[in-house]
Amino acid sequence: TETLHIVGGGMAGSEAAWQAAQAGIPVVLHEMRPAVGTFAHQTGLLGEMVCSNSFRSDDSEQNAVGLLHWEMRAADGLIMATADKHRLPAGGALAVDRDPFAQSVTDALMAHPNVTVQYGEITELPHDGHWIIATGPLTSGALADAIAAETGAEALAFFDAIAPIVYADSIDMSKAWMQSRYDKGDTEEERTAYLNCPMDRDQYEAFIDALLAADKTEFHEGETAKYFDGCLPIEVMAERGRETLRFGPMKPVGLTNAHAPDVKPYAVVQLRRDNKLGTLYNIVGFQTKMKYGAQNTVFKTIPGLEDAAFARLGGIHRNSFINSPTLLDSQMRLRARPNIRFAGQITGVEGYVESAAMGLVAARMAVAEITGKTLQAPPDTTAMGALMTHITGGADAKTFQPMNVNFGLFPPVEGLKSGRRGRKDRYKAYTDRAKMDWKSWLES
Ligand code: FAD
Repeated sequence: TETLHIVGGGMAGSEAAWQAAQAGIPVVLHEMRPAVGTFAHQTGLLGEMVCSNSFRSDDSEQNAVGLLHWEMRAADGLIMATADKHRLPAGGALAVDRDPFAQSVTDALMAHPNVTVQYGEITELPHDGHWIIATGPLTSGALADAIAAETGAEALAFFDAIAPIVYADSIDMSKAWMQSRYDKGDTEEERTAYLNCPMDRDQYEAFIDALLAADKTEFHEGETAKYFDGCLPIEVMAERGRETLRFGPMKPVGLTNAHAPDVKPYAVVQLRRDNKLGTLYNIVGFQTKMKYGAQNTVFKTIPGLEDAAFARLGGIHRNSFINSPTLLDSQMRLRARPNIRFAGQITGVEGYVESAAMGLVAARMAVAEITGKTLQAPPDTTAMGALMTHITGGADAKTFQPMNVNFGLFPPVEGLKSGRRGRKDRYKAYTDRAKMDWKSWLES
């Protein structure tokens, strides 16, 4: 049988290696640590958690990441089985004892008869053989250069400036309205791509004060100001002058408040549809380094967002990821070099669980290919499928940013109440449907 090479023994690569090895495929897992480190990893172990020790919610009925746990357990996932073994009490969250966890992942892979771990940095994109690149947000410089050379430099972001993403159904439409600036756009889809939240002068001034006073995170690795020329965090813009935002992302021109056509807003916060379903909106130009708590408070002062629920908050850190919607096919293969699959955070998913999940699915697809079959992508009604569909085509390539799994990525279940009230029933319906569909996919 042909060998599957996997580059990177983090969350995605470790899961991928396990899945392929369990399916009887010989695996070589290439890991650069400990000889070459990253700024965040502390050990030479496989499956190291770089920051928090939490896999987030373990609720598989009401939470999309909990559902992803469930799906990975049902698929004999190594990361989940090991997390369960080293679980720490943490309420509804799945927190683990990180060192024994990583040691256990390492031991399981080292002991597997089909796995060879080869230590050393990979610096080129290989031309032959079956490969999965799972080198994560801190992909080494040489390999990142090689990927950029193959895919076009803009396709590989080195710093991640993320604007918050809001659930559409948590936006108060008695204050916000739908309109593109100057009513631009030829299609209905383009004209309905934006929601607008108006501010009067007092609200704007209070918002600027809140931004200036908010708690901010410091950068790692001494990121340079140079990087931020094109996409300054909003707090930095506010520091440059109180009017900067009003002449930047919050400019009110070309917009008429549908709820008060005669009152010209002093400033406008725009949100742009973030997915095809229209369930998620990102706040345009609002990349931020405010701490999560501060974001939650400050953004809720925006008229219309008082009850906003965030699918993800904003943030800035180094993060190498490719523009998957344009670069990957539905089998997670690089279109230009189909012998190479990508998996993990480098594909534009965000989080330990999501990264491991993409390792799981990429490996299963590679196994099918090596054994002369084709494995269809899981249906987008499952957490795995919803996330995969998002990165391989559901997301807007122009504004593509790393994504956590969330129910906004799922196609709606018909006949259920929308809005906050119906949420519990809706999520239960999503997860019931997902579990059935995931089981059928596993059997296929
Ligand atoms: P990784 O787990 O980073 O694994 C990639 C592996 O590839 C590493 O072992 C690396 O050494 C290796 N590698 C890189 N380049 C090469 C090369 N050229 N050759 C060989 N090996 C190579 N997510 C959360 O859910 N919770 C958090 O608290 C969290 N905190 C984070 C903090 C930071 C600073 C960063 C950067 C990310 C954080 N993330 C967090 C996001 C992300 O989920 C994790 O980074 C996750 O580990 C990604 O999994 P991965 O397998 O894609 O990458």
